Amino acid sequence: MTRARALEELAGRDFDLLVVGGGIIGAGIAATAARHGLAVALVERGDFGGATSSASSKLVHGGLRYLRLGDVRLVREAHEERRHLMTRVAPHLVRPQPFLMPLYDSGPYRPAVVQAGIALYSTLARARLNGLVSAERALRMVPGLRTAGLRRCGLYVDCVTNDSRLTLANVRAAAESGATVANGATVSALRLVGGRVRGADVIADGGTLAVSAKTVVNAAGPWVDEVRRLADADAEPSIRLSKGVHVLLATDTSWSAALTIPHDKVRVSFAVPWEGMLLLGTTDTLHEGGPDAVVADQADIEVVLAEAAGALDDAVVRRDRIRAVFAGLRVLPQSGRETARARRETVYIQDGSGLLTVAGGKLTTYRRIALDALERLRADLGLHRIDREPWPLPGATGLDRVSLPVEVSPTLRAHLLGLYGSLASEVLEPAVTDPTLLEPLSPDAPDIAAEVVYAAEREWARNAEDILRRRTTLALRGLADELTPRVEQLIGPLEEARHSFRPPRLVG
Ligand SMILES: Cc1cc2nc3c(=O)[nH]c(=O)nc-3n(C[C@H](O)[C@H](O)[C@H](O)COP(=O)(O)OP(=O)(O)OC[C@H]3O[C@@H](n4cnc5c(N)ncnc54)[C@H](O)[C@@H]3O)c2cc1C
Repeated sequence: MTRARALEELAGRDFDLLVVGGGIIGAGIAATAARHGLAVALVERGDFGGATSSASSKLVHGGLRYLRLGDVRLVREAHEERRHLMTRVAPHLVRPQPFLMPLYDSGPYRPAVVQAGIALYSTLARARLNGLVSAERALRMVPGLRTAGLRRCGLYVDCVTNDSRLTLANVRAAAESGATVANGATVSALRLVGGRVRGADVIADGGTLAVSAKTVVNAAGPWVDEVRRLADADAEPSIRLSKGVHVLLATDTSWSAALTIPHDKVRVSFAVPWEGMLLLGTTDTLHEGGPDAVVADQADIEVVLAEAAGALDDAVVRRDRIRAVFAGLRVLPQSGRETARARRETVYIQDGSGLLTVAGGKLTTYRRIALDALERLRADLGLHRIDREPWPLPGATGLDRVSLPVEVSPTLRAHLLGLYGSLASEVLEPAVTDPTLLEPLSPDAPDIAAEVVYAAEREWARNAEDILRRRTTLALRGLADELTPRVEQLIGPLEEARHSFRPPRLVG
């Protein structure tokens, strides 16, 4: 569906459900609701996945450290979701990854404690790979690991993902099930009828659309309280925010395990091989400004590098290897606990107006959060039954027999299948008649021109930044400035068509 058609529909249809916010939670709710046959609208102010859902540690995990906080239920549920995502929902995007936890003489844990923790964790995960390994074996898995004072390493398995593309796959699933979806579409007011929220005013492309809906879910992430105050100006703050910063480093070695580095009895940081680079992070500090004001400052970067350097040689953790830095905000329930100890629970609030706010939780458990949100709206939506069975996202089936329309190298094939799954054949379709689209955009990245065109035509990308930062991994490889002109040149004609649209129904 074109953007023009989507905006017309937003203004013209009566929806069962309007979802505010296109991060993983909003996209997951929209996809789940649309699959249940509901008429769904999903509106996102910036880009899909443009906030927290592209700034995570990119782990789909049970959360080993939550065991230490006594949250066995959260870990069990997260592992169950991890299994669903890895095997059925998005096996192309959620892949198993061994993790080593280095245990130094000076570290906070004794090996026996970690061994017991990993045994419980692996039982909850139903995983076989677990236990303690020697420093020598660990060094073979992670070249550059510091071995001075290293006693053993804990070994366990979790998963790694591409958070923005997982979000996008949910947006696509919603659209394929009939939802109307739009990015660059901001909810500026909530429409109340008889004290109940019945839709919203949405600003898009310079106009304001009146969107009518039986129910509204507020999945605005760090902005949930701002949206709640559109229905009730006196709504008390329901959440607090904690900033997390990540640094991506170039690497010239290949790791067969990631690292979970313990800093004290509660906090860990990660060093994860990701897209041929090392993803380091994250910090966890209370953020007291508005959500728009989040930035990674030099002090954050120093903390991330220093914490990684505790377990990695200086030759690995070098400032000149930095390719990208990004910051995101965790949404935590209001409580007096320090942020690192705060429970990673989902906050559900149903205001007097009927507005359901869903915030917090984990990328890993988005599917369960979406199902629970629908459960809370079941009566209002007239839903008889909620189907909790996992189902594959677009691109997730037939991965072992994908036939591509043009011949490509094994490396390009693996790259495309990893990002698009079986939809890789769609990405390559235009290259049948225009082989220039097979050209790599940079010698330092596997991405090709066909991906740019696909992002603009089929994946709601509005500009070069959407493509460089979230449809591909080019910005995270430090290539944004260099490649912006080329991407703009490729999408220029598509953009002109987009801007010929004028919003159909203006409000007030
Ligand atoms: C540093 C960090 C690391 C993390 N690591 C992990 C991890 O490794 N694994 C894991 O499972 N979880 C992780 N998480 C948690 C996970 O990333 C979040 O729980 C998840 O991304 C939250 O998604 P969301 O949809 O609620 O919020 P967001 O992704 O922030 O989406 C909210 C969206 O609402 C939009 N919006 C706001 N106001 C409006 C409006 N008025 N109109 C329209 N749209 C609006 C915003 O633009 C935004 O895109 C991490 C979180 C952080 C911060």
